[in-house]
Amino acid sequence: MTFVKEAFDKNWIAPLGFNCDSFENEMIEYVNEDCKALSLCSGTAALHLAIKLAGVKRGDVVLCSDMTFAATVNPVSYEGGVQVYVDSERETWNMDPDALEAAFKKYPNAKVVMLAHLYGTPAKMDEIMQICEKHGAILIEDAAEALSSTYKDEQCGTFGKYGVFSFNGNKIITTSGGGMLITRTAEERNYAFKLATQAREPAPWYQHEEIGYNYRMSNVVAGIGRGQLLHLEEHRELKAKIYERYREGLAGLPVTMNPYLDCSKPNFWLSCMLIDDDCAVDPMTVMEHLAEKNVESRPIWKPMHMQPVFKNNDFITVADKPVNEDIFAKGLCLPSDIKMTEEEQQYVIDAVRECF
Ligand SMILES: *Cc1c(COP(=O)(O)O)cnc(C)c1O
Repeated sequence: MTFVKEAFDKNWIAPLGFNCDSFENEMIEYVNEDCKALSLCSGTAALHLAIKLAGVKRGDVVLCSDMTFAATVNPVSYEGGVQVYVDSERETWNMDPDALEAAFKKYPNAKVVMLAHLYGTPAKMDEIMQICEKHGAILIEDAAEALSSTYKDEQCGTFGKYGVFSFNGNKIITTSGGGMLITRTAEERNYAFKLATQAREPAPWYQHEEIGYNYRMSNVVAGIGRGQLLHLEEHRELKAKIYERYREGLAGLPVTMNPYLDCSKPNFWLSCMLIDDDCAVDPMTVMEHLAEKNVESRPIWKPMHMQPVFKNNDFITVADKPVNEDIFAKGLCLPSDIKMTEEEQQYVIDAVRECF
């Protein structure tokens, strides 16, 4: 409220402004001081600008995470690029380095990789980075769900050439809606800023040499972000406790929680369970039982290669049965909001247990 009120007190309600500058600086202080940040109206806008900065043109292949939200991959289409989907591994549910290597074999001209850290769990970054380097490909990290998650003590969103965060209403911190683009250099950040402000050239009149967008974040919204950022660690701790309580509460059932690597610290944005292969219980049955008890749950993101809109896009897997189809068929996202009380969570756990 203090930061938002300041915007009103100074009568600075327009896009851009002091809260945007401060929010960018404070985010950089949090994630990595060697990076640059640009606040934008959504994570999707940040992803679109990352695709533009990576130079994706009509017909270019982009190797993409397959099990993610459509917003990760839609911006490839905005630029006429072609998504090729890469299956996941079982240790983090993120892009499988072996499948990525296979994708480069089939598409040696691919120059961009779009990687999402699913549900806030860091991907296998050492392997992914090494493969991208070997093939001279640009890595874009969709860390929309993974702000504050670390891999070997480094922040998600700062590994790739470009990183993206979202402050949508459901994320670990929110501005109601908003996003941020992370770049390595001020030049790239400033070029993205120009594209985000209708591609105005530095001239006294309105001069345009390329096509731009209206993607800026407002000074009021950035004030919300600054306030939320102060609570990020607290949100993280609450999310971790929720995950831990599910793990303990569901122990003994034929289910496992969404997994992560020992060298990473997820932000536990969303807690999910996976029903064992040899157990006949269908996650939809669990979802319906929970719904009867007024508890909302959701299937895992439906893999992109199974989406009608991407029916003509290629999908690369190295497994006999695609890992993502299996996780989609056997997984369920559990209520993970930090406002949920311990009693409410126990009610959810009890309801899940009744299904087995
Ligand atoms: C939320 C989300 C986005 C989109 O962010 P918005 O700010 O809603 O545009 C992109 N990718 C993933 C993985 C997300 O979860």
